[in-house]
Amino acid sequence: MTQQFIPGSSDFIRDIIDTDLKQNKNDGRVVTRFPPEPNGYIHIGHAKSVCLNFGIALQYGGTCNLRFDDTDPAGESMEYVQSIIRDVHWLGFDWGERLFYASGYFEELYGFAVQLIKRGDAFVCSLSAEEVRENRGTFTQPGKESPYRNRRVEENLDLFTRMRAGEFPDGAHTLRAKIDMASPNIVMRDPVLYRIKREPHYRTQTNWVIYPMYDFAHCLSDALEGITHSICTLEFENNRPLYDWFVERLIPGNRPRQIEFARLNLSYTVLSKRRLIELVRNKYVTGWDDPRMPTVAAMRRRGYPPEAIRQFCAQIGVAKKDNLIDIALLEHCVREDLNENAPRAMCVLRPLKVIIDNYPERKVEQIECANHPLRPELGFRKVPFSREIYIERDDFMEEPPKKYRRLGPGREVRLRNAYVIKFEKMVKDEKSGKLIELHCTYAPETKDGPPADGRKVPGVIHWVSAAEAVETEVRLYEYLFNIADPGAKEDFLNFLNQHSLETVKGCYAEASLAGARPGSRYQFERQGYFCADEKDTKPGKPVFNRIVPLRNSWTKISEKD
Ligand code: ATP
Ligand code: MG
Repeated sequence: MTQQFIPGSSDFIRDIIDTDLKQNKNDGRVVTRFPPEPNGYIHIGHAKSVCLNFGIALQYGGTCNLRFDDTDPAGESMEYVQSIIRDVHWLGFDWGERLFYASGYFEELYGFAVQLIKRGDAFVCSLSAEEVRENRGTFTQPGKESPYRNRRVEENLDLFTRMRAGEFPDGAHTLRAKIDMASPNIVMRDPVLYRIKREPHYRTQTNWVIYPMYDFAHCLSDALEGITHSICTLEFENNRPLYDWFVERLIPGNRPRQIEFARLNLSYTVLSKRRLIELVRNKYVTGWDDPRMPTVAAMRRRGYPPEAIRQFCAQIGVAKKDNLIDIALLEHCVREDLNENAPRAMCVLRPLKVIIDNYPERKVEQIECANHPLRPELGFRKVPFSREIYIERDDFMEEPPKKYRRLGPGREVRLRNAYVIKFEKMVKDEKSGKLIELHCTYAPETKDGPPADGRKVPGVIHWVSAAEAVETEVRLYEYLFNIADPGAKEDFLNFLNQHSLETVKGCYAEASLAGARPGSRYQFERQGYFCADEKDTKPGKPVFNRIVPLRNSWTKISEKD
């Protein structure tokens, strides 16, 4: 697989690495990792971290590991592991042989814990979880030392061995580091290293009834892998002294340099796994890959190109301060990519039948249409044209305003890639008065040029031939939330946008789209960019997701039609 990265302009992380390299730290090696916990699908925030870690490794000729930080059996699963593997690959990155699991280090981590006990740096504490919490203190008050803090080494070793052997019920004891209950940094107040938890692990099954805490396992896993630059989000800044404390005692010489950056927050979106799980479990969406979700799987299904996601990550860069990125920027990156690369096609979402009275019955013309207006190398396709076509209901108005440039009584319009047609009459249902169809005439000489008398026909609309068109379902999406910062609200579910999905059935797409491959992307002329849904598209029966409309607030092009 060819690896991809966008050489970003410099940022403070790359500056640090440049300096380290100049000083020949780590003998000039750069080793990073992406360390997800497999307790959910990865989202666009994780994509930022993926692009950063893999991008840096590529840029500096280093390596980047994929490591699952799977130390908490609750909620972790193989399904999540597989989804993350697929998503990181899809984003364009590869870790070669360097796929690791914190659970793969359980034996080593246990050994490290024993070493700490032997050095008098850890003890078995028999307070309940609640008591431990009560004794922790606050930002302004120091914590209280555990009455078990001064157990003898032998007793600690014995108890810890028996914790592993399953002699005690869940919660009876923990192993804690002996650091400093008066430390101004609460993280340093004798943190728990191991807990008893009888829950099968998706990889180690029932081999363990004690599990290491994330803080203990994460930094030591980094050190075991020889990570040189451990890049993480800002909330881990306070944990850095703790990580250093563990690594300096247990794997001195392998201490990674930890660098924190601001996590991505995106408008109209929540990016916390806990909340995404809530949306999935309670069926506010159809699953992790519901195209309205901010997960990588959903973005793929919706039709976002991976290149556009990488471009977005490069554009937002990395900062030291939290902020909220406008989702319109992400859509802008998607649109730029698709404008360049998506072949054009025609699809009528809300059809109105038009009969061209002076066009021969049974004649079908194959009109050659360019797949891309600016890229002839993308070729041509044949689009059938006949006496009966569909146009968009919106492209006809019975009483149009003056500036309206499409069809109306007495008016003409150009059919994209085809003829100029002129309104003749409309047919309405006698009872309901509902418009049923239009009758028009066409000007045969207008296929490759203007009308014979040179009159101007400014409006252009899309169409499909009724008999040959393929009936499709089209799904139109809006943001899942109706406020800009749902992530800041505890009651974020109160801000779900009730109109985030509109399913339009009975659409007609040009004949060539009958063979649309699942996952293929198009610009439907005048409608936006669409992707054949990877799950619901069947041979001859495409279903399309709208990826993005043609423009949004970020697009400075004025509406033309
Ligand atoms: P969440 O906060 O969504 O529950 P998490 O941080 O618990 O996510 P992990 O699986 O632990 O999820 O994250 C793996 C990596 O991705 C970590 O290095 C984490 O810092 C990074 N990451 C997670 N969310 C974001 C984000 N919004 N922006 C940037 N990086 C992120
Ligand atoms: Mg986490």
